[in-house]
Amino acid sequence: MTVAETSELSAAVPTGLYIDGRWQDAASGAVFDVIDPSTGAVIARVADATVDDGEAALAAAHRAQEGWSRTAPRERAEILRRAFELTVERTELIALTMTLEMGKPLAESRAEVAYGAEFLRWFSEEATRISGRFATAPDGKNRLMVIKRPVGPCLFITPWNFPLAMAARKVAPAIAAGCTSVLKPAALTPLTALLFAQILEDAGLPAGVLNVIPTSRAGAVTAPLISDERLRKLSFTGSTEVGKRLIAASADQVLRVSMELGGNAPFLVFDDADLEAAVEGAVLAKLRNGGEACVAANRFVVHESIAKEFSEKLTARMGSYVLGRGSEPGTTLGPLVDEATRTKVAELVAGALAEGAVATIGGASVDGPGYFYPATVLTGVPLSAHILTEEIFGPVAPIVTFRDEDEAVRIANASEYGLVCFVYTRDLNRALRMSERLETGMLGMNTGLVSNPAAPFGGVKQSGLGREGGSEGIEEYLETSYIGIADPFSV
Ligand code: NAP
Repeated sequence: MTVAETSELSAAVPTGLYIDGRWQDAASGAVFDVIDPSTGAVIARVADATVDDGEAALAAAHRAQEGWSRTAPRERAEILRRAFELTVERTELIALTMTLEMGKPLAESRAEVAYGAEFLRWFSEEATRISGRFATAPDGKNRLMVIKRPVGPCLFITPWNFPLAMAARKVAPAIAAGCTSVLKPAALTPLTALLFAQILEDAGLPAGVLNVIPTSRAGAVTAPLISDERLRKLSFTGSTEVGKRLIAASADQVLRVSMELGGNAPFLVFDDADLEAAVEGAVLAKLRNGGEACVAANRFVVHESIAKEFSEKLTARMGSYVLGRGSEPGTTLGPLVDEATRTKVAELVAGALAEGAVATIGGASVDGPGYFYPATVLTGVPLSAHILTEEIFGPVAPIVTFRDEDEAVRIANASEYGLVCFVYTRDLNRALRMSERLETGMLGMNTGLVSNPAAPFGGVKQSGLGREGGSEGIEEYLETSYIGIADPFSV
């Protein structure tokens, strides 16, 4: 980290807990380190929330709930709109912070700021569109009124890979729906979440509506909140393993849960595809965020007749990526987030090579400070290879081949995950068949990028429950109440 980066960051980024509208130290006074993954150096020290701090945050959210649910939708919308504008205004600071705490190149951080900001704008528009319905019962007697009400105080637990967007996707619809919340960001990337809280504070969000509690002890601090009867909803984005544990913990209180979990996206290339477009889509689906994305293409499933040409073109394109510090001009591929992530990627690749795959580029960790791993393409990967069953979370593209459509579908669906699939074909009927045969929550048709704030993001099978974004996104924060009304002509 350069001197300019250090001073810019320490002057502008809050490092305290944000509880009940106040920036404060942890009850214990403890702090934890935030590390730059491109150097391994400490870039900031952040207040380390305790169980008592978590309790204070939930108490504040609970106190604020009633007033917030009665705040006019237009007022909630205006706060979100101002927050959208402030986020866009502060793009450079947020992007630099994000790059320094998780590694991605600055251009990608700016793109995430734009994407995250759009959730604020989208849900500012949704806030005034919440409606119910009114009907006459089929027998013509009673009247049936259905209203939507905010679920109540929510707990949000978010990952490090998209530190702004993953928080915005939960906080914005909650605010729009009239819910208060406690956000626990990933310990690796608390700074972006704190900047986000500061934006909402500056936009006029009342005290207690959003509380942010970074902590180095996620389980210990959030478990008492999940079993506290004041909490009404848990929304989690992270690994399937942790998600399953949180669903089990939520059962005690029958909490509403939304789960955005892991993926193992297949990227299907049929022999009638536009190969150049498929390669461009593949690079985007693989290398965006350095492969550290739940929607990253994890398995390239290519028709045997074009596999050689596809592999050569993909190798050339991925080989053009420049590995380096995300804040340096020219870098197009940053480091992985930490040593554990890099070790996992290296082990998966070593396993695939031992099982017969060939690396046409990359294939081993890069020496030196920071957690760098190069863009890697693996050909000749056997269908039995372990790498095809695990979320790689790194810049590694394993390629397998298929003979016909049925085999492609079988390979694609052979996973406990079902978050996203990508399909490249110019045959309209095949495209439509794929949209019905693939077991997935989302499908990229001739595109390597599906995420859009106006669309329902989420998975099937073990990739999760619920949807974020789109008109579906606000429903996650609303309860349906039915009021039966006596026949107005009979009384
Ligand atoms: P993770 O280890 O599951 O952590 C996610 C969050 O959960 C972090 O805030 C973490 O805190 C917290 N956490 C960990 N153990 C916990 C526990 N016992 N109780 C309560 N909270 C706990 O996942 P990750 O490694 O950060 O993120 C990568 C995963 O997220 C991948 O599987 C990826 O596919 C998934 N993801 C899914 C989506 C989606 O929308 N489907 C989007 C992005 C990422 P600490 O930081 O303190 O560990």
